[in-house]
Amino acid sequence: MKNVKRSKNLSIDSNLNISGSIFIDMDAKRQEVEKLLSEKRNIDDQINKLQQDCKHEKQVIKQVADESSFTVRYVCESCSKVLGWPGEKELKQFFK
Ligand SMILES: [Zn+2]
Repeated sequence: MKNVKRSKNLSIDSNLNISGSIFIDMDAKRQEVEKLLSEKRNIDDQINKLQQDCKHEKQVIKQVADESSFTVRYVCESCSKVLGWPGEKELKQFFK
């Protein structure tokens, strides 16, 4: 299911290139972004592998970044994988 959202804008981009250097700059930026995104995928893969090999022997309650805010989760101390949600009791202790 990966790679489903491939860009379909290739023809539009080449049309824009005829009208000036600003579009070449945009292209360079896009290439940089593409490069970084592929590095990010690589890094995510490596993290995933480490987390899959980890036995998660030490669980700690930590604040982790959610999409919009920070939330409190049980995470593995060694690989940082999110393992679960603390109950109300644990939350109260954490914020004491
Ligand atoms: Zn772990």
